[in-house]
Amino acid sequence: MTIAIYPASFDPITLGHMDVAARAAAIFDTVILAVYDRPLKNLLFSTEERVALVREAVAHLPNVRVDTYDELTVEYARRVGAKVIIRGLRAVTDFENELKMAHINNRLYPEIETVCLMASQEYSFLSSSAVKEIAALGGTVDFMVAPHVARALRRAYGWEERA
Ligand code: ADP
Repeated sequence: MTIAIYPASFDPITLGHMDVAARAAAIFDTVILAVYDRPLKNLLFSTEERVALVREAVAHLPNVRVDTYDELTVEYARRVGAKVIIRGLRAVTDFENELKMAHINNRLYPEIETVCLMASQEYSFLSSSAVKEIAALGGTVDFMVAPHVARALRRAYGWEERA
């Protein structure tokens, strides 16, 4: 049984992440969306909020689980018995970073393979930071994220009092 992890900040999860998760779930027996608990960047949502948004976004995929981790990604992969790290590629700019990380992770844990899925064309412009920039200014993000995520963004930026 092949377990794959899809590690990311998911701040918040976008339709692009959901597309990659669904496609990975069609390839591997189990896919774990691993929400990074201590990224080296400022986040809008807490770990608990990010996990809740991710859970709702992938609830329809029976072989997808959601988890958090705060150690090295390869240590987490080893701990849960994953052989594969899933990443998404949107453009050449993603490729450079992903290549570097894949080499480093492979040196740290030679049994791990990084599998990159190409972003679907309609989501290749999507990023969590673009979603946040637009939501912060009150623009619609309905074409970028699931409805429950759009609601959470509107609440976070004070555009909507309650769901
Ligand atoms: P991190 O901060 O860990 O990079 P992100 O949430 O920004 O977390 O991205 C995690 C992974 O998801 C990366 O491999 C990234 O390239 C991929 N990704 C992000 N947005 C998309 C998208 N729209 N389509 C496909 N893959 C994506």
